[in-house]
Amino acid sequence: MHSKIKEDCGVFGIYGHKDAARLTYLGLYALQHRGQESSGIAVFNKREIRCHRGMGLVSDIFNEENLKPLKGDMAIGHVRYSTTGPSIIKNAQPFLVEYSDGFVAVAHNGNLINTHSLRERLEKKGTIFQSSMDSEVIVHLLAREKGNFKKRLLSALKSIKGAFSLAILTQDQMVAARDPYGFRPLSIGRLDGAYVIASESCAFDLIQAEYIREVEPGEVLFINKRGLQSVKPFRKVAPAKCIFEFIYFSRPDSRMCGSSVYEVRKELGRQLAREHPVDADLVLPIPDSGNCAALGFAQESGIPFEMGIIRNHYIGRTFIQPSQKIRNLGVKIKLNPVREVVKGKKVVIVEDSIVRGTTSRVRMKTLREAGAREVHMRVSCPPLVSPCFFGIDFPTKEELIASSHSIEKIRRFIGLNSLAYLSIERMLEAMPVDKKSFCTACFTGNYPLRVERKRAKQRRMGWSRQ
Ligand code: SF4
Repeated sequence: MHSKIKEDCGVFGIYGHKDAARLTYLGLYALQHRGQESSGIAVFNKREIRCHRGMGLVSDIFNEENLKPLKGDMAIGHVRYSTTGPSIIKNAQPFLVEYSDGFVAVAHNGNLINTHSLRERLEKKGTIFQSSMDSEVIVHLLAREKGNFKKRLLSALKSIKGAFSLAILTQDQMVAARDPYGFRPLSIGRLDGAYVIASESCAFDLIQAEYIREVEPGEVLFINKRGLQSVKPFRKVAPAKCIFEFIYFSRPDSRMCGSSVYEVRKELGRQLAREHPVDADLVLPIPDSGNCAALGFAQESGIPFEMGIIRNHYIGRTFIQPSQKIRNLGVKIKLNPVREVVKGKKVVIVEDSIVRGTTSRVRMKTLREAGAREVHMRVSCPPLVSPCFFGIDFPTKEELIASSHSIEKIRRFIGLNSLAYLSIERMLEAMPVDKKSFCTACFTGNYPLRVERKRAKQRRMGWSRQ
């Protein structure tokens, strides 16, 4: 069981570059934090499409031998994460189908919330599904529509509801599409005259592409030999960009809403120090995700910052979870306190979130064992009380400790001298753009759109983990 909630996917695409597949491979490296279960690249060359997908990390899947045949000047790629849905090769993306007008490859970040009814409707009309992915619904809808590709795609996109940031490839164009709420991020850049799209701008930095802008919520970009055409086919709604991208998911070296994720995270830490000051000798981050907020907290409070907890980066995915008896040792494999730093000190730990509380409890115990005199915790977001249905792998409501426990009860459970969370108002204060542009449903339970009742069943069946 993971102590953190996870991003479900990352997408990348490039149009008009002779090294399309290799650049996509590098782009996926930069997006690896968004999905580690499977990965794939699809390339179009004249009228031929080639696709290579596999299970594991980008570095496990791709090598000289399988990259070499991926020739062509346009490509899309995908990294996928899944814990509850089947982590199997047929669910790896890009998803590739042949329909009456040729081939289409789709890479999807997000979760659709009306998959169940769409799938039932399509199955009644004779559609046979190859996978349990909800993005397969998109290609079947497209195949059943009439008209040219653009008309078909826009019509299919208008039928789906929920979170989608898509990279789509046909024999003559690449498409970038973002749902009207803009739940999941998607940006566009340029490299040597080619267009590049990516879930996060850190992928542009790696390939030395220039960041242009975000694909806007509700925008569909058609990129082909005539250039770039922007279409806004959806009914306008208030945007609901995922605020958790700023708090935890995105890489700090990415830009989002025109601002640096690193700086926003530091501002969350500053707000936290103003709202919940504490008498302590040291500020310690839980590395790596708590680093920026801890820096902001230290700068605002004037309490020295120390890397008093060290993360082991070399555990690997095959790490065998220890038995219950030695579980505490398992936690120490990942994060270990520096005895010389914490001994005899009052420390304040800055965390980006608390999910179940069980891992924090063990970590705080090891800090005390290392000699910390007092252990306080400050969390750079409000308590997580509701699950996410928009592209994040979230535990159930019952598993979220804050959904059923008061802050005082959580403090006692984890074993802290004090515990405080950033308020919703302060969190929104730290955002670089209008606070009404964000989804905050996991903190409030107020979802920007109604989720199908059968959604929970879908999830149990392993559908829709993109
Ligand atoms: S519910 Fe939370 S994690 Fe999901 S999109 Fe909204 S803010 Fe992001």
